[in-house]
Amino acid sequence: IPVDTFDLVIFGATGDLATRKILPALYRRDLAGQLAEGARIIGAARTEFTDDTWRAEVRSVLDETLPADLRDTVALDRFLGRLGYVPIDVRGEAGWPELAARMRADVVQAYYFSVGPSLFGDLAQRLHVHGMNTAECRIVVEKPFGHDLETARALNATLAAHFDEHQIYRIDHYLGKETVQNLMAIRFGNMLFEPLWNAQYVDHIQITVAETVGVAGRGGYYDKSGAMRDMVQNHMMQLLCLIAMEPPYAFEPDAVRDEKLKVIRALDPVQPADIVRGQYAAGNGHASYLDDAENPASRTESFIALKAHVSSWRWKGTPFYLRTGKRMRARTSEIAITFKDPPHSIFGAQEGQKSNVLAIRLQPNEGIKLKVTIKEPGPGGMRLVEVPLDMSFAEALGTSDRDIADAYERLIMDVIRGNQTLFMRGDEVEAAWAWTDPIIAAWESREEVPQSYDPGSSGPEDALMLMHRDGRRWREVK
Ligand code: NAD
Repeated sequence: IPVDTFDLVIFGATGDLATRKILPALYRRDLAGQLAEGARIIGAARTEFTDDTWRAEVRSVLDETLPADLRDTVALDRFLGRLGYVPIDVRGEAGWPELAARMRADVVQAYYFSVGPSLFGDLAQRLHVHGMNTAECRIVVEKPFGHDLETARALNATLAAHFDEHQIYRIDHYLGKETVQNLMAIRFGNMLFEPLWNAQYVDHIQITVAETVGVAGRGGYYDKSGAMRDMVQNHMMQLLCLIAMEPPYAFEPDAVRDEKLKVIRALDPVQPADIVRGQYAAGNGHASYLDDAENPASRTESFIALKAHVSSWRWKGTPFYLRTGKRMRARTSEIAITFKDPPHSIFGAQEGQKSNVLAIRLQPNEGIKLKVTIKEPGPGGMRLVEVPLDMSFAEALGTSDRDIADAYERLIMDVIRGNQTLFMRGDEVEAAWAWTDPIIAAWESREEVPQSYDPGSSGPEDALMLMHRDGRRWREVK
């Protein structure tokens, strides 16, 4: 179903995010027939493009990057016909009147802030001065949303001076992933899981976001941030919330976000003994973190593992283990819910009897697997084996990875539809910083140096110990 007609302005249209994610996502939605006839996309950045030269630029980028089966000359021409460009320096005065004149009053108006966060305040201010912050327009704000609680608060205040909360779309692209929404469908669309979804039946939860890449090329940015700020405070926290939250009264923006906020507020402070920080060493032909970051004295972590507790009736006593890192063995993102063992095994101690695990894989190969114990087929007696009930979307629904819309496609369409369910509210972001700030402050005051780990491994030894000492183990990163 096409979304309403819109004027979408992309500030920072010539940048990496716009070129790699936003524009291809819009093209794919256009190809799928989701953009209404009059929908327009206006690029704005400092480069002096005209409408035509920018179109030519976008054409060559899409030509180079689109997979062959998505290249469609008619669709590409139609898409390029929607594009316009206004040269603007966000901090300058030129270009704004022209942009304002191009905006149509009778369509959805959206402004994508695809520029560095230091420009967000200027952008909001200029949109106001030039009369573009109309009552129903929307702004899309990228991460990082602040560097700590104080800066996040200041940014919220700056945006709030010109826009109402219902107009602000804070992107966390993890929330746009098909499987993440499926997590909510699984939990709240079935009777099967929810009665077991609590500390009485769940032994523990693991959330892993492992990457194989290092930070080379963007070491300057990453070194000021580190895994805690770059991954845990936003993406992993959001995943934790969706697992831990109480059923919202409806799948509506504030109903869902109210429940997520309660989870963040219920998180206990993390004890220093429950955190392991790591920094990748050189190896396998790759440079070390310190070299990639071009900062030989850096104490920034490229890996973190921690144990968190949600203090609520539902979760008291069930730990949430979070782990994320660069240069790990494989690129994989996964949530695994491990259920408790049956109270008594009538089959005696058997190797094949393992705990039930519900594994939700975000990448690669999005899908959900439930591991159950059954009898090994054949006449060999009552021998137990573990088998996966596999809910791969590709197989179950006859879709390919390609058909599953990219997170950016879904989220941008949600902006146009005016649906904030999958976007973070200002108070959520602040609450998340309020939880991470003291943890980071403690490392800084102790001048703590992260432990070194081998590239291609699953992190420092102590991260393994974090679980071993609780009699548990991490799932393999593969
Ligand atoms: P980038 O440096 O590649 O692009 C920035 C864009 O902003 C360019 O088009 C540049 O011309 C424009 N710009 C810079 N200063 C400007 C000014 N004064 N006036 C007008 N335009 C100006 O950065 P990026 O990687 O595309 O990131 C954009 C935003 O998205 C940042 O907030 C970043 O943190 C966020 N983000 C990026 C990614 C990613 O994968 N690239 C992922 C998540 C979040």
